[in-house]
Amino acid sequence: MTIYNFSAGPAVLPKEVLKKAQAEFLDYANSGMSVMELSHRSKEFEDIIKTAEQLLRDLMQIPDNYKVLFLQGGASTQFSMLPLNMAKGKKAYYLVAGSWGKKAYTEAVKLSKTIPFEPICLASSEETGFDRIPEFDNRLIDPEAAYVHLTTNNTIEGTSVYQLPETNGVPLVADMSSNILAVDYKVSDFAMIYAGAQKNIGPAGVTIVIVREDFLNDEPALSSMLDYRIQAENASLYNTPPTFGIYMAKLVFEHVTSLGGVAKMEELNRQKSSLLYDFIDRSDFYKSPVKFAKDRSLANIPFVTPNAELDKAFNQAADEAGFKNIKGHRSVGGMRASLYNAFPLEGVKALLAFMKAFEEERG
Ligand SMILES: *Cc1c(COP(=O)(O)O)cnc(C)c1O
Repeated sequence: MTIYNFSAGPAVLPKEVLKKAQAEFLDYANSGMSVMELSHRSKEFEDIIKTAEQLLRDLMQIPDNYKVLFLQGGASTQFSMLPLNMAKGKKAYYLVAGSWGKKAYTEAVKLSKTIPFEPICLASSEETGFDRIPEFDNRLIDPEAAYVHLTTNNTIEGTSVYQLPETNGVPLVADMSSNILAVDYKVSDFAMIYAGAQKNIGPAGVTIVIVREDFLNDEPALSSMLDYRIQAENASLYNTPPTFGIYMAKLVFEHVTSLGGVAKMEELNRQKSSLLYDFIDRSDFYKSPVKFAKDRSLANIPFVTPNAELDKAFNQAADEAGFKNIKGHRSVGGMRASLYNAFPLEGVKALLAFMKAFEEERG
């Protein structure tokens, strides 16, 4: 039975990448050691991390005045690390369009009880179940604010921001965890970008941070581990980094490069997701909880049947048929097909055939 992994993260990785890692697993580059056994100060690892950074710079066309960091702690640690470094006693706005964006805002509020700054919810779509990207009046934004934070792709609810908002000149910061390298954003539109690796980049354990130099903390008063400047000055080697994860990320960057880069990935992702969206749009049985087509995510596609009981039956039958991890997030229910870069087009076609058969049988 062919297995298709629809997991929202940790997610499917390119088979070619896994095979390469397997082939190099016991003896990396004739070192007689596995990557896992290499010192993070060794020549071999230095090559790995430098190459990974350069490949990511080329893929995302990251300008020279941005630092690229490979950190730990997941995107969730960035919810605190961002304001610690960048809020600078000012206002910090949050566009809350999903559960992760809400967490980012909630963490900022928590932190503001111990360090001085003012987190503000710019707009939220929570009232309508995060079924859309909320609108806001950009004249409400204080131009002196530190940043405006948004989530480019709402992993749980299946919405995305494609058209970046006008922010009254305030720097934009993005949690890009679930659509980095999948949608072709322009790095220079952001002061800072962060992403956990486990959706489009590699195994869990690496967090990518891309930060403009003038946003690095200028008063090193923080814990060193949480200080972007210290991490940058030490080229992500302040302490032991997640070496194997960075190596895997390097292999994924090589793979994405060989396929034609981020614009090509976006094109393929549009192709894959529109197959599923078109099918759902034509169906009277399946429905998308996302209110407006313009907000639809290319990466995470939630859908439901007419009732929770059928959703449960669908999830069970899908799992038995090899469509793994298609169950929606526990907070929203239903189904969710995560079609990250490494998810194959054949998998979408197979899912459509399964959905059709399920509707015929149970609809
Ligand atoms: C998965 C995810 C997170 C959480 O990432 P961790 O690495 O588990 O902390 C945060 N934001 C978004 C948008 C995500 O998809």
